[in-house]
This record gives sequence, C-alpha cells and structure tokens, in this order.
Amino acid sequence: MDRDLLETVEEVFDRPTLLTIYNLANSGIIGIMHGVVSAGKEARVYWAETSKGEDLAVKIFLVMTAEFRHSILKYIEGDPRFQEIRRHPRKLRYLWCRKEFRNLKLAHEAGVRVPKPIIAKNNVLVMEFINYPEHRGVPAPLLKEAPPKDPEKALNTILDYMYRLYHKAELVHADLSEYNIMNRNEEFILIDWGSAVKKGHPLFEEFLLRDIRNILRYFSKLGIEVPQLKDVYEWIIS
Ligand code: ADP
Ligand code: MN
Repeated sequence: MDRDLLETVEEVFDRPTLLTIYNLANSGIIGIMHGVVSAGKEARVYWAETSKGEDLAVKIFLVMTAEFRHSILKYIEGDPRFQEIRRHPRKLRYLWCRKEFRNLKLAHEAGVRVPKPIIAKNNVLVMEFINYPEHRGVPAPLLKEAPPKDPEKALNTILDYMYRLYHKAELVHADLSEYNIMNRNEEFILIDWGSAVKKGHPLFEEFLLRDIRNILRYFSKLGIEVPQLKDVYEWIIS
C-alpha cells in the first residue's frame, strides 16, 4: 500500500478502483487522496489534491446493486449518445461514470456553473472541489441546508442555467433539486450529473418538467411568488 498516495486505507476501494487511482497518480493527476466527504450508497466523494496541492473532488462509483442498475437504465437507454448499452454489471458503473463526466463537460461548456470536470477513468471521476468558504476539504453546503439570501435572484440564476443547458447543450439534468445544488457564498453550483440526458431521449420533456417542478416547489416553500410550471417550460423550450 502506498502511504503517500492514500492517506486513509479505504476498505471500499476494490482492486480495480485501487488500480485506477494508482494510474491517475502515475499520470500526475492525483497527488494525494484525503478522506471521504460523502458516503452515498452508489458513490463516495473524496477530497484529494494534485501534486501541486490544488484541491480535487474524486467521485468513486461503487459496485452497483441490481436495483440501482435497473433504476439507471432509463437514463441510459434512449440517450442518443449511448446506443450500445453494455449491460455487463461491472462495466455499467464505468459507463455511468463516463456519462456523468460527459454531462459535466457539456454543461460547463454551456456556461452552467458546475464543478469543472477534469477526467473520468473507469469508475473514478475527478473534478473541481467546491469547498465551504475558507474551509479546505469541506464541501460547500447544499441549497437544502443553506437557503439563498435572495431567493428571487437565486431562482432566476437557476432557471437561466436550465435555459442555457437546453439551448446550448441540449441537455436536461433530470435529477435537479435543492439536494443537487450547492450554495457557495450565494454562488449556485449544480452537481450530480449522472442522470442527465440529451435531447432525443424519449423522456427528455418529462425530465425537464420534473426538474422545473422541483425547483419551483423548493422556491415557493421559501415564500416567494414563483411563475407557473407551464410558463417556465414554454420559456425554456422557446
Ligand atoms: P450522490 O449520487 O451520492 O448524491 P453527489 O454527486 O450528489 O452524489 O455528491 C454527494 C455529495 O458529495 C454532495 O452532496 C456534496 O456534499 C459532495 N460533493 C459532490 N461533488 C462535489 C464537489 N465537486 N466538490 C465538493 N463536494 C462535492
Ligand atoms: Mn446527489
């Protein structure tokens, strides 16, 4: 075990994951892996550093349960980018990781504020670390935990991101809510892009409506006047 690379030995790192991390270290992308900042059921997010000491977020996709594999198929099948679906259980997490990376890249290029994607290799996704202001290695809070100071302005920003995403990237996030938006000093960063699908997917419009509905519901709970679902939908697709 390489003590310089891995600060903590993680029992969740299976052999392919370890090899992938070593590979990323050898290519000069990862300098050191710090501790876990989020331990989800399907993915864990780590704070890491480049060899120059710049912060990184490393999202590692765990071996998928059959239930999870089943639940993500509808976000893969029908996406024109993923025609050949590889159903091999071990390979599906690689595809899911690559899909999140490609979505991040498209969103980033469309001018949506997301963690800047760096690389995806096998089941390891490396991106910009969105830290809590003045706290290295601590993620910024989610919108759920840190409501915006100016909800109207925040809603406009997020709807503008959805508009850009639709027009410039032809993408819909498909899992958008206050749980997948970080609030870093009133800067709103959209995360968790695995589910996002391209226009042409048969459920594209349905996912877009659901995202808008989630966002309007959240902001109306904050007590502001929100526009009608239908009006927002029509504005976005206009
Ligand atoms: P999950 O599928 O587990 O919901 P997410 O991509 O939403 O995965 O990430 C889970 C948590 O990890 C987030 O709520 C956030 O706290 C943290 N996180 C994710 N991406 C980053 C990042 N780029 N920088 C800092 N923290 C992050
Ligand atoms: Mn999430």
